[in-house]
Amino acid sequence: MITNRTFTMLKPDSVEKGNIGAIMNKINSAGFKILAMKLTQMSVSDAESFYSVHKDRPFFNDLVGYMTRGPIVAAILEKDNAVEDFRLLIGATNPADAAAGTIRNEFADSISENAVHGSDSDENAKIESDFHFSGREVY
Ligand code: UDP
Ligand code: MG
Repeated sequence: MITNRTFTMLKPDSVEKGNIGAIMNKINSAGFKILAMKLTQMSVSDAESFYSVHKDRPFFNDLVGYMTRGPIVAAILEKDNAVEDFRLLIGATNPADAAAGTIRNEFADSISENAVHGSDSDENAKIESDFHFSGREVY
């Protein structure tokens, strides 16, 4: 099992607000190496599949609408302890609870439009990376 990789998306609000560069700068400054990266847009069926664990939650339809309304930046990142360290870097799901200096504290608007995704386990990092990238897109 891969233990040093995680998967992220800079969500549509981050792209709309012109925050790609500022967020990637924080990711690089925290020691993450980029193994794959692209601007891409998820279809409704892509988002329904990616977030299927949340399909019975009241926010599911809004989440799918949000995540499909414009392009995202998808990336695979490498660092020791990548999954856990990246979750620390992005901060809590609700930016009101996200620690100072975290990406969500600095760039997110709300618990729903919260700027970035970060995988929650090594297993999901692999599943999510494979969802967005073919093998020859990954360095
Ligand atoms: N979300 C939402 N309302 C909530 C909880 C989550 O709109 O009450 C959205 C939000 O965009 C979040 C995503 O659903 O990032 C996935 O939720 P999860 O609990 O997995 O949070 P994350 O792992 O992204 O911190
Ligand atoms: Mg999650």
